[in-house]
Amino acid sequence: MAREAIEDALRFEHPLRRYTSFRVGGCAEVFAEPTDMGQLQEVLRYGNEQGLDVSVLGKGCNVLISDDGVRGMVVHLTGWYFNRIEKRGDGMIVCGGGANLSRLVADTAQWGLEGLETLVGVPGSLGGAVAMNAGGRHGAIGSYVRGVTSIGYDGEIHHYGSEEIEFGYRCSSLSGEIIMDAELELVTGDKDAISTRMSDIFHQKNKTQPLTSRSAGCVFKNPEGHSAGALIDTLGLKSMRIGDAAVSGKHANFIINLGSATASQIMELICKIRDEVKRRYGQILDMEIKIW
Ligand SMILES: Cc1cc2nc3c(=O)[nH]c(=O)nc-3n(C[C@H](O)[C@H](O)[C@H](O)COP(=O)(O)OP(=O)(O)OC[C@H]3O[C@@H](n4cnc5c(N)ncnc54)[C@H](O)[C@@H]3O)c2cc1C
Repeated sequence: MAREAIEDALRFEHPLRRYTSFRVGGCAEVFAEPTDMGQLQEVLRYGNEQGLDVSVLGKGCNVLISDDGVRGMVVHLTGWYFNRIEKRGDGMIVCGGGANLSRLVADTAQWGLEGLETLVGVPGSLGGAVAMNAGGRHGAIGSYVRGVTSIGYDGEIHHYGSEEIEFGYRCSSLSGEIIMDAELELVTGDKDAISTRMSDIFHQKNKTQPLTSRSAGCVFKNPEGHSAGALIDTLGLKSMRIGDAAVSGKHANFIINLGSATASQIMELICKIRDEVKRRYGQILDMEIKIW
C-alpha cells in the first residue's frame, strides 16, 4: 500500500479530549485512524519508521490522558471493518476491535444470546473490553472469548485461541497489541429473561453509579477482600473536590469531571485519596484506570 493511502488516516497534534469519557487531556503527537487491516499495518510501519511509540485508544472510557498529551502515535480503530458485529451459527459472534460494546450487548440480547447482558452499562469498545477483561460482580467478558486476532506494534499478526489468553481482574495478556477482532461464544437463552436480567442489572448500576457523569468508571481496583469505594467513603472523602474534579457523591470510587476539570486536577485528587487510604488503612490502592 502506498504512503498516500494512509495520509487521510493521519493527523498531527490532534486533540484527544473528545475521544475520552472524562473529556480531558491534550493532543496526540500523531493520531492514526485506520479503517482496515491493510491500512493499520501501513500506519504501524510508518510509526516504526518514524521511531514513534504506539498506543491504542478505544472509546477512552478507562483512560486519563495528561493535559500535556501523548508523545508518539495513538491508534484509533474506525470504519466498518473494525466496527462490525457479525452473528455466525451456534452462538458465535465475530466483532471488530473498535465496535461499540453497548451495541454488542444490545444486539446479542436481541438475538436471544445469553451472557453479555451482564455488561450492560459498561461503555467502551470491544477491544478495550477484552484488553481490560471488563466486567463486574456478574462476570467478565473474558469467559466468552474464544479467539482473538491482534497485531503487535511491530506489525506482526497473531491469532490466539482462548487457551492462549490469560484474563485476570481488569487485565489480560493482550496488552501491547492491538485487538483487531474477537470471536465470542454465547449460548441461546430465553429472550425475555435476558432482557429482564439486563434491565435489572442496569437499574441497579444506575442507582449506585454516576453513569451519566463524565468519568472513567472505577478509578481504583478493589484490594483483596475490600471495596475501594467503601474504604474511600468511610474516610468521608465523598464529594471531595479539586477544581472541577470531584469524588462522586453516588459512588466514592468514581471521580467525575463537573465541567472544566483538567487531567492534573483529577490526578491530584487520585493522589490525595491514595495517600489518605494508605495513611488510615495501610492499604495501597492500585489503579484500575490507565494513566497516559
Ligand atoms: C460510567 C462508566 C462505567 C464503567 N463501568 C465499568 C464496569 O462496570 N466494569 C468495567 O470493567 N469497566 C467499567 N468502566 C470502564 C470502561 O468502560 C471499560 O474498561 C472499557 O472496557 C474500556 O473500553 P475502551 O474502549 O473505552 O478502552 P480505552 O479506555 O480506550 O482503553 C483502555 C485500555 O484498553 C486498551 N485498548 C483499547 N482498545 C484496544 C484494542 N483494540 N486493542 C488492545 N487494547 C486496547 C487501551 O490501550 C487501554 O490500555 C466504566 C466506565 C465508565 C465511564
